[in-house]
Amino acid sequence: MQVAERQRSATRGAAVWASRACIFTVDVEDWFHILDLPSAPGIEQWDQLPSRLEGNFLRLLDLLEEAGSVSTCFFLGWVAHRFPHLVREAARRGHEVASHGYAHRLAYRMSPLEFYRDALKARQVIEDAAGCPVYGYRAAGFSLTSRTPWLHEKLVEAGYLYDSSVFPARRNHGGLTGAKREPGWVRTPAGEIAEFPVTVVPLLGARLCLFGGGYLRLAPLGLIARMARRVLREGRPVIFYLHPREIDPEQPRLPMPVARRIRCYVNIGGTAHKVATLLRQFPCGSFLAWMEDAGWTKAEVGCASK
Ligand SMILES: [Zn+2]
Repeated sequence: MQVAERQRSATRGAAVWASRACIFTVDVEDWFHILDLPSAPGIEQWDQLPSRLEGNFLRLLDLLEEAGSVSTCFFLGWVAHRFPHLVREAARRGHEVASHGYAHRLAYRMSPLEFYRDALKARQVIEDAAGCPVYGYRAAGFSLTSRTPWLHEKLVEAGYLYDSSVFPARRNHGGLTGAKREPGWVRTPAGEIAEFPVTVVPLLGARLCLFGGGYLRLAPLGLIARMARRVLREGRPVIFYLHPREIDPEQPRLPMPVARRIRCYVNIGGTAHKVATLLRQFPCGSFLAWMEDAGWTKAEVGCASK
């Protein structure tokens, strides 16, 4: 489909998706997949560590189900290789299965070729586990930056239809402060790809994301809800993101500086309840469902269950 046609379709679909314009996303990884931390174990050690993923992930799927919502689950390829039944379970329950790369490496620390190979391997492993195509990608740590101008092109070459790696605000790993805030198509020499930037709002003189990470866990529920309604009024989807470890107060803690520890673990005990409350006010769907509603794609969600 040409860009103009896609844009016309998107406009036509806008009224349809207004009622399900919130998207819930889960980066499916374990408690030890913390980026850029000297004490974090390397990939050669991951197999030997006690995993807490299954319990946390299934609890999160239950929570979504109780709220009548579905999500996009960005699986690490390594997770899909080790726990293929969790990929199948997500697809069986109607969630969209997508890719978080294979080895959880920051995009800007890889060459374009290394990035392409990691993204391709992840897609293949996750598709094998799910038994259905994978369309979406999210880089570890939202690490699409000015140092990775090739990232979208490599994703098209690796077979992806959309990306959600742009963090249009300041951030430790990555961050593109001046980036567009709305979803749209990106043209690359290899073809087009849709980009869904993480949702940010202007607050206290800066762009902030209240819908994932430390801010979601720390900010008052009323403020998050008010800002979500404002984003919806502006015609943008609200994109929430969460890791299964963020609802697990019992997880082992990695040694790290105090500021980082606060960011990683603040209010983990209250997050499941907070997310459940938000989901009651803001029912969520997946990226692929949003794209279908907007007329951006005819791809189907939850194909493994069919
Ligand atoms: Zn991650």
